[in-house]
Amino acid sequence: MQYDLLIKNVRVVRPNEHGVREADIAVKGEKFFTIENGLDVKEAKSVYDGKGWLAFPGVVDAHMHTGIYAPLAEDAVSESRAAAQGGVTSSLNYFRGGQYYLNKGGPYRQLFPEVLELSAGRFHVDYGYHLAPMDGAQISEIPYLVEEHGVSSFKIFMFYGSHGLHGRSDSQREFLMIGPDERYDYAHFEFIMRGVQAARERFPDKAAQISLSLHCETAEIMTAYTKIVESQKNLEGLAAYHAARPPHSEGLAVFIAAYLANEAALPTINLLHLSSRKALEAALQMQEVFPHIDFRREVTIGHLLLDIRSSAGVLAKVNPPIRPREDVEFLWQKLLEGKVDWVVSDHACCRQETKAAKQAFGNIWLAKSGFGGTEYLLPALVSEGMKRGLSLNRISALLSFNPARRFGLNSKGDIAAGLDADLALVDPRESWTVRARESASTQGYTPFEGIELGARVKATFLRGALVCENGNPVGKPRGRYLHRPTA
Ligand SMILES: [Zn+2]
Repeated sequence: MQYDLLIKNVRVVRPNEHGVREADIAVKGEKFFTIENGLDVKEAKSVYDGKGWLAFPGVVDAHMHTGIYAPLAEDAVSESRAAAQGGVTSSLNYFRGGQYYLNKGGPYRQLFPEVLELSAGRFHVDYGYHLAPMDGAQISEIPYLVEEHGVSSFKIFMFYGSHGLHGRSDSQREFLMIGPDERYDYAHFEFIMRGVQAARERFPDKAAQISLSLHCETAEIMTAYTKIVESQKNLEGLAAYHAARPPHSEGLAVFIAAYLANEAALPTINLLHLSSRKALEAALQMQEVFPHIDFRREVTIGHLLLDIRSSAGVLAKVNPPIRPREDVEFLWQKLLEGKVDWVVSDHACCRQETKAAKQAFGNIWLAKSGFGGTEYLLPALVSEGMKRGLSLNRISALLSFNPARRFGLNSKGDIAAGLDADLALVDPRESWTVRARESASTQGYTPFEGIELGARVKATFLRGALVCENGNPVGKPRGRYLHRPTA
């Protein structure tokens, strides 16, 4: 027998083709072996009936935060099960020193082996980490992280120097857990950029896939506007949070990030979760000013589905904030024009008891930031995207191929012989209603509750093994650490 697994009767969706193709998919070991019509079931050790469903490459959710609000060892299990439910097979997680996460600072030489140890054997999908250098010593560790641990992407949280994760803050040094001589400011960001560029020069064969991601919001603007909005008291909920972190705070940060990247001669910049017209316009303007910089523009499924009138209220608190409908429509317009490179969940499981203080439920200022959603990323983009004329091929580029290539996952992102046999089988005609209680995530609620979706993930395969079927995760955690770039 030639094949370990034969998936019969699917419609294959590939990122760089036009239209879908009816075929069978043969897997040998952990890799795709051949994709053809009429493959012989007698040649396969096991056969799976694809029932005419769409076969997408396994989703690369390039922006998650496993272990931010709950212990990493717990989150790794439950949140990667939620990922598998959504057809995600690669989970890339932003991680840093400081409060939340492991709740400690110090060098990554000590922190990161602990992260890997806590992760091992717990993820149901393959996983990797992006790391944020919080102080000068961590900048000097960038080459070590690239070489020893295959960490090829880094992050800057532009507002953390003087504005808190959940709102105003006078104690950011304690939050960041950095020494008295350290400052988390524009100069530090410049030196991170120089550090990443130095690593690109030191490892030229990997340079194209070593990049820097930025959360673009401006602390000073947000602190001032938060004070105004809190004292005026005429706005509440998501509308208030949007006004307190206005879109021009994002746009300004994008300009600063781009200018500094040019100054530091770093050409691989990822602009994360652009949430507003002003932010995305700023990103497109900077691409014209600095054409030699390879900017990538990210949006999240939350910013594509929700607006400030969402009934989720405080449960949809996130940074950058959920925006008014005009901004949401602008993101869709640019997505359809091909101006957005990938879509992610920004999954950060924030359980209800953590999310909002009981005695002050509904108070947006006291709620914590972030929520999960990796399990809805693919079905939501398929159902909402198809309504708006987004092709299935583009969806597979936005969710798999583009993030895979940027972040050094060369064995992922497409359905082709020799690549990892990661697949999401999707029924594009099954309507269903999002219910948090059906998710494997421990979050316990979702801001997407009650939304009707028109496509459903039926089965997820990780390197040739079934890891989720009909919403039920299957088997033990078999996710592997992604030492990037992968072969
Ligand atoms: Zn995030």
